[in-house]
Parts: sequence; structure tokens; C-alpha cells
Amino acid sequence: MEFSSKLLEKAVNEMAQLPGIGKRTALRLVLHLLKQPKEQTGFLAQSLLTMREEIRFCKSCHNISDVAICEICSNHNRNHKIVCVVEDVRDVMAIENTGQFRGIYHVLGGKISPIDGVGPSQLNITSLVEKVKSGDVFEIIFALSSTMEGDTTNFYIYKQIKDCEIITSSIARGISVGDELEYADEVTLGRSILNRIPFENSFKNN
Ligand SMILES: [Zn+2]
Repeated sequence: MEFSSKLLEKAVNEMAQLPGIGKRTALRLVLHLLKQPKEQTGFLAQSLLTMREEIRFCKSCHNISDVAICEICSNHNRNHKIVCVVEDVRDVMAIENTGQFRGIYHVLGGKISPIDGVGPSQLNITSLVEKVKSGDVFEIIFALSSTMEGDTTNFYIYKQIKDCEIITSSIARGISVGDELEYADEVTLGRSILNRIPFENSFKNN
């Protein structure tokens, strides 16, 4: 791509770093910004910078939050004894949208994936195991996507908590293998949470 301006080229190259944005799309977006009032770009840039500077992770569940303890964890009307284990904030949003879950979450921050160089120590697993061992948890629901990495992660955690007196369940595998949780429609996902199955049954048949 030949650019008539170095400034334009730099902006396009930065924009093209984002996932799913190729150079052509990046150019279209940048040209769109140039047509808008200057303040609009200021609002965009400022909101990104502020988010990057000020965003936090909930000290209890590791969900993205504006405050030290997120709204879900600080809500006393939720059942703090039922913990749904998810990969990231998108899963929390997807499950919250179903309106079917009144427990709390634990956000791992990814899945165990040796190919991508992600080991258990890079994920929020220790704090989950500690939470379970402290005796405050009645049920753990595994809600990672049904991929090999998701299964590996579930099983790794399960091995560490299986001797604790808690119920471990997994959301029903109505969500087909390889589907990411965030893309499941709300009705299916809501039903999967209500019809969750004991975790042991989710791998014995495989
Ligand atoms: Zn939280």
C-alpha cells in the first residue's frame, strides 16, 4: 500500500495491529475519522487511554472492573457459594445476559495451552483453589468452551479440588465442540446453565 502521507501510514499501521482489522479496513476507519470533527478522535483516543490507565481487575473474581471489588462480587443478593469458572470477561457478559445465573464468577484469564505457551501459573487458578479450600464454596460450575484447551484446564482444576466437599458441575455440552461460549445464543446458554451436569459425567463418556 502506497501512502501519500507518513502520518496517515502510521495511523493505518497502528490500527491494523488490532485483531480482525486488515490494512484496507484500517485505512477505511482512519479516513472515516478524518472526515469527523476533530473532537471525535479526541474522545476515542481519550477513552482508550483512560480505560488502559484506570481499569482494574476485581480482587476476588479477576473480572474487569472500575473498582477493587466488582459489582457482581459486592452484590449481597447473589449466591456467593456458587462459583462459575470462565475464561474471560466476555463469558461473564454472555452468562449475565442470559439472566439465569445468580451466583458469582471466577475469571481465569485464559486457558491452559502449551502450544501458545500458556501454563497454569499464568492463569488465576491458585486463587480459585484457595477459595474452594477455604470452605466458602458449595458448587463450582466449569463453563469454559468445549475445546481441548478448555477440557485440559477444567481437568487440571478438578484434580486439585476433587477431594473438597463441594459439587463440581459442567455446563451441558449442548454447546457443540469448538464453539466459543461467547457466541452461544442466550437461550441455549441459559438452558445449559440450568441443566448443568456433574463434572465427572462430562468426561467419563468421552
Ligand atoms: Zn468480582
